[in-house]
Amino acid sequence: MNEKVRKTGHQLEVPDFPVIPFIEGDGIGKDIMGPSQRVIDAAVAKSYGDSRKISWLEVLAGEKAYLQTGEWLPEATLNAFREYLVGIKGPLTTPVGGGIRSLNVALRQTLDLFVCLRPVRWFKGVPSPVRYPHLVDMHIFRENTEDIYAGIEFMAGTAEAGKLMRFLTEEMGVTDQVRFPENSSFGVKPISKDGSERLIRAALEYAIERELPSVTLVHKGNIMKFTEGAFKNFGYDLAESEFGDQVFTWRIYEKLKSERGKIDADKALEEAKKSGKVIVKDVITDAFLQESLLRPFDYSVIATMNLNGDYISDQLAAMVGGIGISPGANINYHTGYAIFEATHGTAPAIAGTGKANPGSLILSGVMMLEYLGWTKAAEHVYDAMDHTFAKRRVTSDLHAQMEGATLLSTSEFADEVIRNMH
Ligand code: NAD
Repeated sequence: MNEKVRKTGHQLEVPDFPVIPFIEGDGIGKDIMGPSQRVIDAAVAKSYGDSRKISWLEVLAGEKAYLQTGEWLPEATLNAFREYLVGIKGPLTTPVGGGIRSLNVALRQTLDLFVCLRPVRWFKGVPSPVRYPHLVDMHIFRENTEDIYAGIEFMAGTAEAGKLMRFLTEEMGVTDQVRFPENSSFGVKPISKDGSERLIRAALEYAIERELPSVTLVHKGNIMKFTEGAFKNFGYDLAESEFGDQVFTWRIYEKLKSERGKIDADKALEEAKKSGKVIVKDVITDAFLQESLLRPFDYSVIATMNLNGDYISDQLAAMVGGIGISPGANINYHTGYAIFEATHGTAPAIAGTGKANPGSLILSGVMMLEYLGWTKAAEHVYDAMDHTFAKRRVTSDLHAQMEGATLLSTSEFADEVIRNMH
């Protein structure tokens, strides 16, 4: 009865009883995985009765894998994700020494999971530092495979750094831009057309499919013209050439403005909005970090590079209740590979105490249900989470900030969410 999720062409084929591999995770991973799976199972049962059910398959990674197999990320685990396509994971300890930089990075690179998707929405009642938390509804598409995260770095004083410095001066025409050539470290920032396009295409398709109002390209192209600036231009070129009349770009607006004046350009923009076109715009990263706090309602889907995406994800998460309830996924939309994950770390100080908030993993599970097309079950969980927060029944991270709240343990919170599925 248990079957595999498959990808044929553009279509994900999801059987009624899919095998879903999961990595329990280290630290609080043990505390949150079971309760999160209970919530997801309950939502599926509530929505589809006996006709659909997830068949969970545990695979090993992190400390648990190391203790049982001597390896941090066994090949069998990677093979399970290759075979079953869609999986979920708890947080993993980053091994100290031993060649692996980060297990998460290794998973993303091996399966070429080029999109890191982080939806950011507010649940009524959750404490927020911003004035309009109810108007926050953003979806971050962070490029996952390029940028300074490629790991091409050379430490000051090494032969490699010296060789690179000589290459820059002798062959690349660099004169005095490196202020202290004798003791500079270097990092290389690859941003490609192919890498940018596949990320931006996924963001545009997501916005069109969900009828979202805009896609904003966030970049620092005013300074890094050939990397981040190129990302912006690749994005506009792609939107205009591949998505035609489904989008209206800011670049077209600016062209109209210079040719026909502001009144005509504004009119075209208004018409585009009215007819449901996705508005494609861009903003410089520092301005975005400020504007998204002050005017969150101006932003919907965000497409950006790896480092910007890292900073932006945490700021936006803080606007709606912090990392305890921020979900995430790493996806390759071409192969279908997708790993849904808690965005926080292993929180070793509270592991085993019942204090961990399972919200991030539960909501990652909801993203997984949406990805599988089981939207009814996903809506059940969203709805139940809304009710649970509105009743102020929360785990200790949120309890400390909410007046009149009832403190629940990790497992009690999951039970409460299940009780609130109407
Ligand atoms: P962390 O996210 O584990 O903890 C940061 C703070 O948030 C701590 O105060 C912690 O108690 C709190 N916190 C985190 N998740 C929570 C939850 N669900 N409920 C309540 N409180 C929560 O970050 P860190 O301390 O920098 O990292 C600890 C370990 O986790 C490191 O080994 C790091 O490499 C790893 N890590 C893994 C991932 C991942 O697997 N995706 C991500 C980040 C860090």
